[in-house]
Amino acid sequence: MSTGRLFIIGIDGVDLAVARDHDLLLQNTVEWDLKEYPKLHTLRIWPSMFLGDLPHKNDDLPDPIAHSRSDRDEERLERANWTSSGMRILSKISHLLLPESIRTPIGAFLRDRGFTKAHHEREDWPNTVFDGVQSKAINLPTYNPLPVQHELKQGWKTRIREGDAGLEELEELAQQERDAVAEELDTVLNHGYDLVWAYVFCTDIFGHLDYEYGYPRTVERVRDEVIDPVREQLDDDDELVIVTDHGMGLEDGVGEHRPPGWLTTTVPDTDLPASPERVRFWIETFLGDRSQQKEDVLEDLGYI
Ligand SMILES: [Zn+2]
Repeated sequence: MSTGRLFIIGIDGVDLAVARDHDLLLQNTVEWDLKEYPKLHTLRIWPSMFLGDLPHKNDDLPDPIAHSRSDRDEERLERANWTSSGMRILSKISHLLLPESIRTPIGAFLRDRGFTKAHHEREDWPNTVFDGVQSKAINLPTYNPLPVQHELKQGWKTRIREGDAGLEELEELAQQERDAVAEELDTVLNHGYDLVWAYVFCTDIFGHLDYEYGYPRTVERVRDEVIDPVREQLDDDDELVIVTDHGMGLEDGVGEHRPPGWLTTTVPDTDLPASPERVRFWIETFLGDRSQQKEDVLEDLGYI
C-alpha cells in the first residue's frame, strides 16, 4: 500500500513571472510578501521553512548571516581586489583605485548578500521538520549542502572579486548541481520516505549575473532535469510541492532579489502556509493527516 508521500523541490530565487512562463505552477499556489526578512536573504528564508521559525529573530537559533561576520572574513574582505571588473553593479567604479572609505561599504554590501557565508555552510539546527518523520533532505542550504553548492558560491565570488571565472564555468557547476540533485532524487524515489525535500541554488546565481538569458534558461533546465523526472514518477496519492525563497527582478541592469516568494502544490488544500515559517507546520499537518488516514485504512482492514 502506498502511503502518500510529499516531495518538495526547492528552487532558489525564481520570480513568479518566470515560474508562470515556464509552467512551474501546480494546482494551488501561495505568495509571500517576505516582510519579515530584511534584504530577503536566501540563507534565512530557507531555514525558516524547515525550522518553522525565523533564525534572525529567535535568540536560541544561529543566524546564518550573522555567522559570516568573523574577523577572518573582515580581513579577507579588506584584502580583496575591489578594482576588478567582475561584477556589473560595481563596474561604474571599477576603474578607480578605491580608497578605504569606499572599500568598507562595498564589503558590507557583499556581506549583506551572504557572500562571506560560503565557507561556513552547515548549521547544527536543533529541531527541524526532518526530525520526526522518515525524511530525506538533499542539498538544503545551511542544512546539508552538497559540495557543489559550495563550489557554485565560490565560483561566483571568484568571478566577482577577480573577474577570472567566466559564466561557462558557472554553467558547468550549475549542471553538476542539477545532476547531483537529480541523481539523489532518483535514488530515493523508491525508498519509502514520507518527506523528500531537494533544493538547487544555481537559479539564484544566474538571476544575478545573467538575468535576461542565463536565468530563464537555468530555470528551464531545473524544470526539465530535476522537477519533471520526479513528477513523472509520482504515485497517485503522492503530492508535489515546488517552492522558492524570493523572486528576482532587474535593477540597473542587475538581477536583485524581490518579493514575492511562493509555494505551489498538487495538495488540494486552500489553507496553504501564509509565510515561509508556516511551511513546517503545514508539512507536519499534511503528513499527520496522511498517517491518520493510513491508520484508519489499516483499522478498517482489521490490522490494528
Ligand atoms: Zn535565494
